[in-house]
Amino acid sequence: MKTKGKYVYFFGAGKADGNAKLKNLLGGKGANMAEMVKLGLPVPPGYTLTTEACIEFYARKRKYPPGLKKEATACLARVEKLMGQKFGDAKNPLLLSVRSGARASMPGMMETVLNIGMTSKTIPTLIKKTGNPRFVYDAYRRLIAMYSDVVMEKAAGIEPKEGEGIRAQLEGLIHKVKKKKGYETDLDLTAQDWKSLTVQFKKTVKKVLGKSFPDDPMKQLWGSIDAVFLSWFGKRAVAYRRIEGLPDDWGTAVNVQTMVFGNMGDDCATGVAFTRNPATGENNFYGEWLINAQGEDVVAGLRTPFAINEVSKVVTNRHLPTLEKDMPKLYKQLDGFRRKLDTHYTDMQDIEFTIQHDVLYMLQTRVGKRNGPAAIKMAVDMVKEGLISKQTAVARVRPDQVDELLHPMLDIKAEKLAKKLGVGLPAGPGGGVGQIVLTADMAEELGGKGEKVILVREETSPEDVHGMKPAQAILTSKGGMTSHAALVARGWGKCCVVGCGDISSIDMKKKTVNFKGQVLKQGDWISINGTKGLVYKGKLPLIVTGPEKNPSYKKLMPWADEIRRLKVRANADTPEDAKVAIALGAEGIGLTRTEHMFFGDRIWAIREMIMADDIKGREKALAKLLPMQRKDFYGIFKAMKGRPVTIRLLDPPLHEFIPHEKATQKEMATRLGVTVKAVAAKADFLFEFNPMLGHRGCRLGTTYPEITAMQARAIFEAVAKCRKQKIKVSPEIMVPLVGAVPEFENQKEIIDRVADEVMKKKKVKFKYMVGTMIEVPRAALVADKIAQKAEFFSFGTNDMTQMTFGYSRDDAGTFLPEYVQRGILADDPFQTIDQDGVGELMELGVKRGRATRKDLKIGICGEHGGEPASVTFCHDLGLDYVSCSPFRVPIARLAAAHAVLAEKGKKRKKKK
Ligand code: ADP
Ligand code: MG
Ligand code: MG
Repeated sequence: MKTKGKYVYFFGAGKADGNAKLKNLLGGKGANMAEMVKLGLPVPPGYTLTTEACIEFYARKRKYPPGLKKEATACLARVEKLMGQKFGDAKNPLLLSVRSGARASMPGMMETVLNIGMTSKTIPTLIKKTGNPRFVYDAYRRLIAMYSDVVMEKAAGIEPKEGEGIRAQLEGLIHKVKKKKGYETDLDLTAQDWKSLTVQFKKTVKKVLGKSFPDDPMKQLWGSIDAVFLSWFGKRAVAYRRIEGLPDDWGTAVNVQTMVFGNMGDDCATGVAFTRNPATGENNFYGEWLINAQGEDVVAGLRTPFAINEVSKVVTNRHLPTLEKDMPKLYKQLDGFRRKLDTHYTDMQDIEFTIQHDVLYMLQTRVGKRNGPAAIKMAVDMVKEGLISKQTAVARVRPDQVDELLHPMLDIKAEKLAKKLGVGLPAGPGGGVGQIVLTADMAEELGGKGEKVILVREETSPEDVHGMKPAQAILTSKGGMTSHAALVARGWGKCCVVGCGDISSIDMKKKTVNFKGQVLKQGDWISINGTKGLVYKGKLPLIVTGPEKNPSYKKLMPWADEIRRLKVRANADTPEDAKVAIALGAEGIGLTRTEHMFFGDRIWAIREMIMADDIKGREKALAKLLPMQRKDFYGIFKAMKGRPVTIRLLDPPLHEFIPHEKATQKEMATRLGVTVKAVAAKADFLFEFNPMLGHRGCRLGTTYPEITAMQARAIFEAVAKCRKQKIKVSPEIMVPLVGAVPEFENQKEIIDRVADEVMKKKKVKFKYMVGTMIEVPRAALVADKIAQKAEFFSFGTNDMTQMTFGYSRDDAGTFLPEYVQRGILADDPFQTIDQDGVGELMELGVKRGRATRKDLKIGICGEHGGEPASVTFCHDLGLDYVSCSPFRVPIARLAAAHAVLAEKGKKRKKKK
């Protein structure tokens, strides 16, 4: 477990023990700082305590492994020597920051403590050296606030009520001073103000937390290091890992680093930037900065950040200065670093920098979060620029990022007429419509119930993450494009507007939001255009736009298609759906649900069939349905132009077509000329305790063969018509819910007989296939026997999941969410295939089916067919295709390509 007995890695002045490849050991931040040092970039010197040290720390019941402290002390001495300063020294003090950094970036989840080493001994010297007492006391109060919050409260496991934490209380003290003296911003506070505040801060800390803020530099340092390690199992970090599916046993690294200050005067600054635009993907340097500020100020969204250059400007900072104009030399240097990093990492980087007295320092670089459209554009551009291969480009775009292109947008026409409430920054594209909710808890609760809510906050923090996820959109009144809300939303591809200055106040007591005098209540509907940064009153319609107009998408997807082996089909019930599916890249239809054609006015024919007492009556009613179904099938065949079309015979229980309320039963009686009593009696007769396990699927076709015959006839007559018009067709008729071989045989006989009849009558020959769904667990078990008759299989994983677990899809909502939340099930098996159970049955079905019929065509048509993890699984099982709803076709295409790339990776590793 231990790597060469080394727990601490040094970096600084061109030399580093680590590099970017050691992310698992040094965390993302530490590994990348080492890499930047090696690239010759100016990074304040420091050292990294490894993730192994963190794991050991927990394994030893919160004690450090032997040797760690010695290594750390040696590294500190090296830093001191480089800087010509000494930590805690009265003559020439060194100040440090302690920064956490896990493998994967978790924005703001772990804690940072700045300005460590400020004590009664060093403060006077710092004042003398800087000649700037205001700066020193400002830095000191930040240290007290951060340390008491992170180390003395959070790491100590104290959980104050919302708004009553030590940090909030200390901020309250600043607020009081501002109010008393009539100051507008923090910038108005004088050195004396800050000085007396630090005294008050320390008193409050002692009073609230029962302990004094330490005046010993080593206590400050190790207290902070402890706190970072402890925060790995802090509530917020754990919650974030659950949402992102990250494991607990990675541990976090800790970075100890020389402080540099962006807040020592007007020749100082700090900023956050992206090597390419993270919202559009354009190859422009994009970022925000602030003069005379400490790093946190940009991200915290307390001041409106400036744009670093002209192209980064947005509505809120159009009039404010840019780094490009104000500090042109430093901007040029930074832009050089930007190009260097972008090319070196061959991926867009998210960087942090600080300028101290006209000297530029790099504090961080990491792969930047981006939204879907940007991810696609950057990947395709980087292929054009010769930085990456097509395969890398495909691998780099996540299926859910492609999904964003298919995201709903507000209807432009409705937007024009809507009442605009405000303008903010476009942090997450697409449209979002929902009811205003002011707390994350409430967003979680209502969103979890499937209600549409929009989380409205002044700004968000990691404590809000659980409520941000289920919200339709996020709206904040403060903060910039790199604020917490923006980063998180971008990562998730969620609609988001930040820094909406038109929100003049949010009243948490009255539960209202004031948009410049327009007061809205919690629960009121608003609509958000996250692409443009606009907020509207009311519930605007959302429309889904296609990705056809995105040139980068059009380049990328064929690259994915070249890679993948799985074919991708769509589930489509109408010619319109079929056309959409083809436009999105579907190669066939994997499921046409015939019952969907029975709704609307046609329901009367099927109701008539249900009410009929004998086969004659049923056939009469079915005869009415025949031409309608034939027309449907003809339309679909025509739209699919010879691509395979799988049509499933009638599947749902008949009671679904009968009204259960008295009033509608009456209407039905009148319309069909029968008594209400008869209708009610029929409804009673068809009643089933477990309709999902009842009289449905091929059980219907077996007991009412005339239904199967009619459907087969409609299909084949449509085929015949196509053949006559020289339209190519490849029909595949699919029998649902087969569990026993005779069930299938019986249906196939009817289908074959009708096919013969139609061929003779229409004097045409055509080919067709008859296959079955594998969805009853028993079918998977006897797949070898079924395959003797069936020409193809299609896994119906919705029903199969239902029957394998014994969970009714309709009722699982009462316990399944809790199961997932408590980790009893890792995932909802109706969303992603349960590979251990249902997957095992599928594997058996494939093996046994193909043992009988070597080239048996096998697909999947359950909802899982468009879910990336399930697509990978289907690839690994050797299925021929997946079929999913049209709008998930692009996701499946990309996921199928990823499955091949992952397989290649696996093989390469095995060879080693
Ligand atoms: P996060 O993981 O939230 O990005 P960081 O470790 O980057 O946390 O620290 C938060 C902020 O503290 C950074 O934005 C940076 O500006 C500031 N900071 C951290 N270390 C230093 C340092 N050595 N000198 C100056 N500022 C620092
Ligand atoms: Mg950072
Ligand atoms: Mg089914």
